[in-house]
Amino acid sequence: MTFRRLFASCTEGAQRWVGQDCLLCGAESGLEVLCSSCLDELPTLPECCPRCALPSPRSAVCGACLRTPPYFDGTVALWRYEFPCDKLVHALKYRARLALAGCFAGCLSSRPLPQVDLVVPMPLHKKRLSERGFNQAVEIARNLARRMDWPLGSRGAVRLRHTAPQTGLPYAERARNVHGAFECPLDLRGARVGVVDDVMTTGATLNELARVLKRAGASRVENFVIARTVPEGRSPGKVGVHGGLER
Ligand SMILES: [Zn+2]
Ligand SMILES: [Zn+2]
Repeated sequence: MTFRRLFASCTEGAQRWVGQDCLLCGAESGLEVLCSSCLDELPTLPECCPRCALPSPRSAVCGACLRTPPYFDGTVALWRYEFPCDKLVHALKYRARLALAGCFAGCLSSRPLPQVDLVVPMPLHKKRLSERGFNQAVEIARNLARRMDWPLGSRGAVRLRHTAPQTGLPYAERARNVHGAFECPLDLRGARVGVVDDVMTTGATLNELARVLKRAGASRVENFVIARTVPEGRSPGKVGVHGGLER
């Protein structure tokens, strides 16, 4: 355990004893990192494609997934990647608020999730892992696996290349940027794999990982993600102040 992760665990351990304030509004939130009203107001996704989680009327498989089916078979995304979800994801990732991983996993486990045989977190390259001290996807996956009683394959996928951050790249270049970035050291013949990641932007990274997992024999790959970026033009309505959709 790195010093950073140890320090964060101690701080959060103490907060569990004395109770804590909601990370978003500052109200007393007892043992939870977020109060229930802030949780209820997080920006939900509208009816969306079961495969890629982008908005799609009546939750039908979208045209893009029909035209070019991705390697993954399904995606469950908790929220839209916008304020304040982006702040929460950043707080876990860059401020080591590890209690958020438990909160996210709790929210995921309360959704109807497809059954899987193994949970695999999106891997970080070891250079980035040593900079950050922990992998946020591992933290979420560990909590989810425990809640769902699913085996955790924390080394089910390995990142071979230290790729340029996807955020700085045009959408079209993202698939090229991640090609060949992963390796799967496991024999996954016939296994249904659940991949955990914090943010799904274009889906290029998750698609590349799914390709590698399928090549290792996985029969299905399901993505479990915290936040989904919804590009302009794919949104059927704007998100109201309370997170509800106003059509
Ligand atoms: Zn709150
Ligand atoms: Zn789709």
